[in-house]
Amino acid sequence: MKKGNEYEIVIEKTEFPGYGIGILGDKKIYVKNALPGQKILGRITKKKKEYIEAKALEILEDVDYKIPQSCLHFAECGGCSHQTISYEKQLEFKKEQVLSLLKENGIDNFEFLGIEKSPEQFGYRNKMEFTFGDYEKGGELSLGMHIKGRTFGIVTVDNCQIVDEDYRKILTAVLKYFREKRLPHYRILSHEGYLRNLVIRKAKNTGEILINIVTSSQMDFDFSELTEMLRTLPYEGILVSILHSINDSLADVVQADNIEILYGRDYITEKLLGLKFKITPFSFFQTNSKGAEKLYSIVRDFMEDSQSKVVFDLYCGTGTIGQIVAPKAKKVIGVELIEEAVEAANENAKLNGLNNCKFIAGDVAKVIQNLKDKPEIIILDPPRAGVHPIALKYVVDFNAPDLIYVSCNPKSLVNDLKVLKDNGYVIQKVKLMDLFPHTPHVECVVKIEKK
Ligand code: SAH
Repeated sequence: MKKGNEYEIVIEKTEFPGYGIGILGDKKIYVKNALPGQKILGRITKKKKEYIEAKALEILEDVDYKIPQSCLHFAECGGCSHQTISYEKQLEFKKEQVLSLLKENGIDNFEFLGIEKSPEQFGYRNKMEFTFGDYEKGGELSLGMHIKGRTFGIVTVDNCQIVDEDYRKILTAVLKYFREKRLPHYRILSHEGYLRNLVIRKAKNTGEILINIVTSSQMDFDFSELTEMLRTLPYEGILVSILHSINDSLADVVQADNIEILYGRDYITEKLLGLKFKITPFSFFQTNSKGAEKLYSIVRDFMEDSQSKVVFDLYCGTGTIGQIVAPKAKKVIGVELIEEAVEAANENAKLNGLNNCKFIAGDVAKVIQNLKDKPEIIILDPPRAGVHPIALKYVVDFNAPDLIYVSCNPKSLVNDLKVLKDNGYVIQKVKLMDLFPHTPHVECVVKIEKK
């Protein structure tokens, strides 16, 4: 078995995130996006001691549970890789993937409460980051997503189905405008060019729209004409903000060295479960608002009786979870790295009339060492990498009777759960919430108790 060789592979099961698994020789073989029941022709792309990875070249025998794609861009856009599976089946796969991961890692004997559907399967996103580029090297300007399986190349996604009509309208208008102006897009290798990203945020429940055009500082461009044009588009929502951000970072990340307000203000407001949240251009906010309401309701249910308890909300973003549970709690302390998110969190708490919340800016692993309160419930909602080992050690030392872990990555979740288990905690119940239809991602909420 050699790298580059081709083999017929029967896919037997699925593993997170969205891999089809077969057996080749005596090794497990991983094929991205392949489905249980398929027989594929795969080329080996990676060979390790413990496993092999292959790329599907052709489907030799297909499954009968596939459905037609609902989006024009499906073949090229890397976004919704599971769009040709019915939504019910997608949920079944996600459930299976998380449960087997937990089981393989010795995490069992918990109550499993199933997976909750996203309230909307299409048009569900409240944020999208589109990239400027070209479809073929040197070709016409495109604006959208990276092309699946290619290092370079951007496919224009003016028919994207996981956003609503306002997004498509803005994308189409912005692309047409910049094509006419013949402005160069930024190139990630040479670090040359101007247009980098178009970020759109639209609060689902209030309809407020923010448009952020991200460029390098390599040109001086007058945005007044574009601003005027964007102000007069017929939106279903309400345009409240147009921004121009300068990003000279050499890395392929969307961030800002400077933000200029071209129209309106520099934030939108979203309403979740009756509370208001100010969302600033670069702070984290769950990208599926209706789904987030369900996710946070699960967290609130898992808290059970939180009357007069001290709650830590670690990795709190704009303080959503903390504020949703605050009316029941004695006191909420939130910690978050991004300063602008923390400022918004403190402002939001005031706006919502909550005076028992305090949000602190800083790295959880550092801030946690100086927290003097004794928490009775600790909520953890870390980024994909999971909780930093130092932070986890301090979490354990607080000896809180209850922990609630909200995870967007079951792989790092199981590693952290193992540490908690070794330190006298018991995994009590698990519930999954699908915030990302048609993608392999899923949120897990875990209730953990001190033995
Ligand atoms: N609970 C929030 C945010 C969860 S996402 C919500 O539901 O909206 C994870 C958050 O952790 C992000 O806001 C990110 O900025 C923050 N973060 C990442 N690394 C961190 C660290 N080391 N210390 C504190 N916060 C961190």
